[in-house]
Amino acid sequence: MHTRFRQAPPLMTSADTTLTPNRTCRRRSEPTIQFLAFLRLPLVLAFLLMACETPDKPIPSPAPHLPPPELRRPPTEVTADVATWREGRSGAASLTFDDGTLDHYLVAVPILEHLDVSATFFLMPDLIDDGVWPDGNVERRLISWTHAQKLLEAGHEVGSHTATHADLTTSEADLEDELVESRRRLEGLLEGARVTTLAWPYWRKTEAARRIAMETYVAARGGAGVPRLFEQIGGVPEPDSQNLDAINSMGVRGGAPQTVWQTYIEQAEAGGWAVLALHGIDDGKVPDEALGWDPIKVYELEKLVKTLQERDLWIAPFGVVADYLKRRRQTEVHLAQPAHRKTELALRSSGRYPATDNPAPALPEEPQFRKPLTVRIRHAQDYRPVEVREARSGRPIEWETRGEWILIDYPLEHSALHILWPVASRQPSRVIDGPTGTP
Ligand SMILES: [Zn+2]
Repeated sequence: MHTRFRQAPPLMTSADTTLTPNRTCRRRSEPTIQFLAFLRLPLVLAFLLMACETPDKPIPSPAPHLPPPELRRPPTEVTADVATWREGRSGAASLTFDDGTLDHYLVAVPILEHLDVSATFFLMPDLIDDGVWPDGNVERRLISWTHAQKLLEAGHEVGSHTATHADLTTSEADLEDELVESRRRLEGLLEGARVTTLAWPYWRKTEAARRIAMETYVAARGGAGVPRLFEQIGGVPEPDSQNLDAINSMGVRGGAPQTVWQTYIEQAEAGGWAVLALHGIDDGKVPDEALGWDPIKVYELEKLVKTLQERDLWIAPFGVVADYLKRRRQTEVHLAQPAHRKTELALRSSGRYPATDNPAPALPEEPQFRKPLTVRIRHAQDYRPVEVREARSGRPIEWETRGEWILIDYPLEHSALHILWPVASRQPSRVIDGPTGTP
């Protein structure tokens, strides 16, 4: 994943090779032609052909103008890789809402909109038709298809929570219907929906269910509602998490101390991915039947989102982060030096899909579904590029600096990029600070 490139010694190009003495037709021809001046023309031509050892070689051009010595500096090092998380952030976070209860639309969505954050809503399509979900002895009111459509249009992700919130470990569960048909129904009834993620109902699954899910979705969300269990099954997912069939999530539940989720957010900022599983959101006004399971208060949701935003985290819907993680693992950065002061950067899929990954249900390459990979580039001399351009079209590409890295959102269309470096500066690299100029 990490490519290190040492620049070739500059200017050993075809232009230089023209300076090397060549045995060419022309070099031999002067004395030969004087001698043959007396012979007939066909003989002249035949002899010339034999005398020319390399008749195809070009006639050398005059010595090219060499760039000044500072442009022909010794090699310097350029390294590049795909950033662990987008924007070069330290960690990632995803807010996920299960069950599609009405409080999500009435209470949670306005808060998310106000705080400018996108989330994932895991829905049960067969129950949306009924409008209610008999959850044990509670009848919960669910959002409508119109509400679901509005979630999508507001930039949120819709995922499957199976067709009927079935316990997939029981023999009655129709796995094909719950896992495959639920996706088809959501995509069929919601305009523009691309359903690429699943949340296991009751956090439960079987091996058969797992296999079908991984043929149907990019990733599935597992997890636990209590910290001890969450930690037992792996804790905060690592950036190289291999288990896309059960990305671990922590349930955020009513009455639980904030220190619980704060701990996981801190762990995510140290390099992981905090996936938070929310259910009911209570603003004190929505009727009880519209509330999801074990609701948290509305101010707790606000506090949670603001805490995430204060941290160095990439906050994005579950499916968007899963897609990034998967593509990053499959991608290698290749560097070349086609010209002096120009580095060519290309991304290639390594084709090494981990066993649990299914490449089939890829997200469409449209900005609302998929985010560009962030490529990090470091130059040994701490250069900044003069410009970055798409190799094929010449279109300028924006970049930014973050610490010692230059960050580029690699365009989705996969054209190579050209990075143009400045002329090596002869200025001292150390700046002497202070009015006296004392080092
Ligand atoms: Zn559920």
